[in-house]
Order: sequence, then structure tokens, then C-alpha cells
Amino acid sequence: MDFTSAIPVPPSPRHPEKAHRPDNPIPRKPDWLRVKAPGSPEYQATRRLMREHTLNTVCEEAGCPNIGECWKQKHATVMILGRVCTRACTFCNVATGRPDLLDQHEPRRVAEAVAALGLSHVVVTSVDRDDLDDGGAEHFARTIGAIRAAAPGTTIEVLTPDFLHKAGALETVVAAKPDVFNHNLETVPRLYAEVRPGARYFHSLRLLDQVKRIDPALFTKSGIMVGLGEDKIEVLQVMDDLRAAEVDFLTMGQYLQPTIKHHAIARFVTPEEFRSYRSFALGKGFLLVSASPLTRSSYHAGEDFAWLRAARAAKLATAG
Ligand code: SF4
Repeated sequence: MDFTSAIPVPPSPRHPEKAHRPDNPIPRKPDWLRVKAPGSPEYQATRRLMREHTLNTVCEEAGCPNIGECWKQKHATVMILGRVCTRACTFCNVATGRPDLLDQHEPRRVAEAVAALGLSHVVVTSVDRDDLDDGGAEHFARTIGAIRAAAPGTTIEVLTPDFLHKAGALETVVAAKPDVFNHNLETVPRLYAEVRPGARYFHSLRLLDQVKRIDPALFTKSGIMVGLGEDKIEVLQVMDDLRAAEVDFLTMGQYLQPTIKHHAIARFVTPEEFRSYRSFALGKGFLLVSASPLTRSSYHAGEDFAWLRAARAAKLATAG
């Protein structure tokens, strides 16, 4: 007699590596972080389209609070290279574990969805794929190429992993000529060991610097979360480091804790503090700064890209 079918199988945990971490109670959100539940007809249409094209989005996988607003405007951030990440960052809600097989048809499906949505600007991100020889760089390049072919009027922003220093990976993505190259530092260097244990602050910084050196015309962008335990002076240092790497655009938002097993929220940064950070950052020379409690890397990315282009043109005109 076979008893195995009678034994309930526990669902596989989304973050197996976090199962034994201590519980961190999630504090109640202040009013300024409260958003309306999604549900508009436009939101439903965007959701349907993503399902029809079997695409993953970081909006859903990361549990982004802006999903109602963004999807209402057909602005979704596509997540390529599967749904499972090979890293174990303590802030992130994307599933971790054994990665999916690489789907060779994904670039085409992404391009078809972008064309169907009629987007003027699209953001493409991915999970970390440390298991792949090139970290997934070629897949990024193929996705950029497919979007260019299917939707030539759409500008393209990539938000990439660090490719684990793999030789040639960064160059492959830059050669595909996205319009914006984004790579997030996520937090201040002191907190890397606990927040982003698989990454190195100065490697990420160098990556941004290299992108600019290879193609100075590319807009570069990076972001950090605040509320993880950083000090103001450390945040200002990160701004200086990013400007030394000639990064054009900085995003800053409040860290929100996905589950009790994730990194604890140290505190909620007030809207006034975000305004102050924005002033400091603009003073340090970023072309554009988005800093608010609900700012995320891809929040309002289309409008921001138009701003970036205008700001660069104005700067060049003044310099000329
Ligand atoms: S902010 Fe970015 S991740 Fe969040 S819903 Fe909007 S597009 Fe998606």
C-alpha cells in the first residue's frame, strides 16, 4: 500500500534560506505610505496582458505598493530570466532557490507585450542568475533587440543585476544600446553584509562607472532604499560616490518589509526628510532625483526619462 499520497506535502517556501531567521514584527505604516487597493479596469487589462504573454513582473513579485497606480497607466516592469533569484537579499520579496530553465522565447513575448501595450517607455529587470555563464547578459541583449524590432518608438530602460563580475556581461548589455542603464546600490556600504550579502558595494559602483565609460551617451541611474538603519551622513556619501561614477539619476524610497522573516524596518523616513535628501542630491549634480516614501526604481520611469533628456539638453546648451 502506498501511504505517500496521504502525507500532506508542505508548500515549498518562497524564501527557504530565510526560514530560520528570527521574526521581525512589521510595524504599522504611517499615513503617507497608505495606498488604494488596485482594481481599476485598466489595472485588470494590464494584468490580463501580462498573463496572456506569460510574463513575470517585479511589480507583483516584489509586492510593490504602487502597482494600482502604475498598472492603471499600463506601466509594468517586466522581470526576465525567470521568477527565482539565485541570491538571498534580506530586503527582497522575489522568490529564491533553484532557478528556472532559461526561456528562449521570453524576449519575443516581452516585445509583443510592449507593442500591444503601446508603451512609450519600458523598464526591463531580472532576477539574479549567478548560475548562467554570462549572468543572463545575452538574454537582456536579446530582449532589448526584440523590443527595438517590435516597438521601435519605445525607449528602453534596463535595471540589471551585477552579473557577478562575469567577463563581458556588462559590455554585452551596453552594446545592445538601452536608453537608460539602471543598477541599484540598494543601501549604504556598512549595511551590505546584512542587506545584500551576495553583492559588493564597490563592485556595483564600478559597474555604473564602467557603463558610463563605455557609452557616455547612455543615461545611468541608481537607487537606494532608506529606513534600513543607515545614517544621513552615509546616504550623503553614497550620493558623492554615485556622482564620482557620473550617475545621472538617483532614486530614493522607503524600505517596506515584505514578511516577518525579512530585514527589519529601522524607521519610517518622513516626507520632509525625503525632500531634504532630494535637495542635497540635486546640489551634488544629479540631473534628476526622485526621492519620496513611495519612490521605486521604475516609478514614473517614462516621465522621468523625458525629464532626463530635457535636463541633459539644457545642460549642454548652457555649457555650449
Ligand atoms: S513602481 Fe515599478 S515595480 Fe512598482 S508597480 Fe510601478 S512599475 Fe511596478
